[in-house]
Amino acid sequence: MAYASSHYGEYADQFASSFPSDMGYGHMQQNLDSEAPEVHHTVPENKPKILLMGLRRSGKSSIQKVVFHKMPPNETPYLESTNKIMKSSVTSSSFVQFSIWDFPGQIDFFDGTFDADSIFGGAGALVFVLDAQDDYTEALNKLFITVTKARKVNPAMTFEVFIHKVDGLSDELKIDTQRHIQQQATDLQSDGNDDVHLSFYLTSIYDHSIFEAFSKVIQKLITQLPTLENLLDILISNCRMEKAFLIDVVSKIYVATDSSPVDMQTYELCSNMIDVVVNVSSIYGMNDEAMAYDKESQSIIKLNNGMVLYLREVNRYLALVCLLREDNFDKHGLIDYNFQCFKAAMRGFKLIAHVTQKYKHRFYSSMSHNQTLDDFVVKKRK
Ligand code: GDP
Repeated sequence: MAYASSHYGEYADQFASSFPSDMGYGHMQQNLDSEAPEVHHTVPENKPKILLMGLRRSGKSSIQKVVFHKMPPNETPYLESTNKIMKSSVTSSSFVQFSIWDFPGQIDFFDGTFDADSIFGGAGALVFVLDAQDDYTEALNKLFITVTKARKVNPAMTFEVFIHKVDGLSDELKIDTQRHIQQQATDLQSDGNDDVHLSFYLTSIYDHSIFEAFSKVIQKLITQLPTLENLLDILISNCRMEKAFLIDVVSKIYVATDSSPVDMQTYELCSNMIDVVVNVSSIYGMNDEAMAYDKESQSIIKLNNGMVLYLREVNRYLALVCLLREDNFDKHGLIDYNFQCFKAAMRGFKLIAHVTQKYKHRFYSSMSHNQTLDDFVVKKRK
């Protein structure tokens, strides 16, 4: 284990480079200094654009590095600090595109050179990072100036506040801090922003809370989410699964799950399984042509509590990771068949508006014990 963890960064690099270049979270970073920021017009329209803002040292670069570049959290204190506006884009996930902006105190939204239209226009969400271990009065003021300006340009965008670095706080203090910040936010809102909705999340890069918060932010921007959830509900009920997550393989953000409540430990387990599969595959399974994650990727891990973790490739970006009881895992044919239905429904997403209706009848909930998928398909055709 010591070997694995001390070489984590190296494996992470290997892992990243094993993805096709248009997938691997290509990282463009621009140092825009005092110039008005540019906007990338190459972003496909269907990808949500997210702005990550906040005062300097609030933790934005760390969040970006940990979530999208697999940087171990304990390396983030060595990240170079900057006094300039940084714009970095994380492109190439199937669902997401980010623009990340550092907002040093001197940036003035009311300055004529500040092109609010190009920054806020077209953005799906604004994530404002607020350092909970520091005095957040200035940050809250900045948040409200930002929100006021942003919603004038783009009233459709969502506003998300990450109360960040909460790992340093006791559980009691976490709740107090959140209550205090929400109260102050409400007070400020009554000064002219009363109809704006802010969502708050307690986050830290030292646990899965940052991934869970990002997942929720992104899910709000996925127009097909209700359909995806519906499909996952159908899948888990027909296969007698406990939980299923559709996870973005590189970032581990879950883009959808079934409608049962999410338990952080289950999500962590499912997300760690992706690392296990990709790391084992990149260490032992690679040759010149092979990639660490491809059509063949699948894995079964039996846990010592009678549960099974089951991973299947859905497409080059996404994996379906399910948790089910070992007793319900004996009907492989049924699970395979229903999984193929799920995959087919996912493929149809761009073309068919009401995918669930079309595919619902294709899922099956019973099959005799030893049937394989092939048996089943042949029988169905007859
Ligand atoms: P930025 O200027 O907003 O991009 O902030 P940085 O990402 O450079 O982070 C500033 C400092 O906060 C660094 O020393 C990070 O290690 C630290 N930091 C970031 N996130 C967390 C967190 O969740 N918990 C703790 N304790 N420190 C964090």
